[in-house]
Amino acid sequence: MQKIRSKDPLTEPKHIAAFEKRQLLEFQRQITAVQGIAFCFPYKFNYPWPEEAIALWENDQITLGRCGNANACVVCTSEKMARHRKMAELVCDDWVNAGGSVYWQRLSLQNSSEHHTSEKYDLLKKTWSGMARLTDFKNARSTAGEPQFCRVIEEVLTIHGWYPHFHVLWLFDSHVTDEQAATYLDKVILLWAKAANKISPSLALAEAQHTEWKKLNVARGTVTNYLFKHGFYDLSFEAAIDDPYTQSLSPFQVLRVYFETGDIKLRCFFYDFERSCSNLRRVKFSVRFPKPSCWPLVD
Ligand SMILES: [Zn+2]
Repeated sequence: MQKIRSKDPLTEPKHIAAFEKRQLLEFQRQITAVQGIAFCFPYKFNYPWPEEAIALWENDQITLGRCGNANACVVCTSEKMARHRKMAELVCDDWVNAGGSVYWQRLSLQNSSEHHTSEKYDLLKKTWSGMARLTDFKNARSTAGEPQFCRVIEEVLTIHGWYPHFHVLWLFDSHVTDEQAATYLDKVILLWAKAANKISPSLALAEAQHTEWKKLNVARGTVTNYLFKHGFYDLSFEAAIDDPYTQSLSPFQVLRVYFETGDIKLRCFFYDFERSCSNLRRVKFSVRFPKPSCWPLVD
């Protein structure tokens, strides 16, 4: 088989980003504890490959294929989130064009280093399902015209370790006024806190803490890029990090800073992330979340 890759210079941002992601994957391969990621080999023949990938291929140490890990593989996560992003973008456009409105809401819990990272994910999911069971929640949702939602987990590194939280897109029908939507979203904050406190008083939230919402002016790409940024490779990300624990770094940013600085604590945090999110469903759509009119997309 021909093993010579294209040497075309990388000029387009998307190609540069694709190359950088694969470079980071090669770094990740050196330390990952997740077998699938160690064997992920997502290289097309017409794109330049990082030198590490070329060496592996030439030594016949690996076969072509993707691991499909949608949480912790730099490349596969990015691809998966890009598909979600495209779909949500089409849906939001259609929705607003039809007179509906789109709101964003963040829901989170007290972030404490007393909880392991996997516990933090569990507590988030339990709080959501606890809230969904509340009669008050069902009533509020019914009053607001059964808004559909897309819920995404995001995490950043803090001085208390990983801080996972939810970002939620709510889609309200055209007959729902801004005032009714606001009433609903305020109610969700209260019911979220109620559900959290049922699980443990230590999860109690100050009402406005890390829990907010706003109406979105749906400009193509901006909202959905934000919502699905886990795995999204930010080319503007710079290596100059004064303090990684106060700069809200995402897991892949932590990975990158680890390789740039050799800070072993960051490597431990990334290991912790890989382990803790192994069975995580990062994106959840409500049952009747609208489907885009043209899907699947052909790139
Ligand atoms: Zn992969």
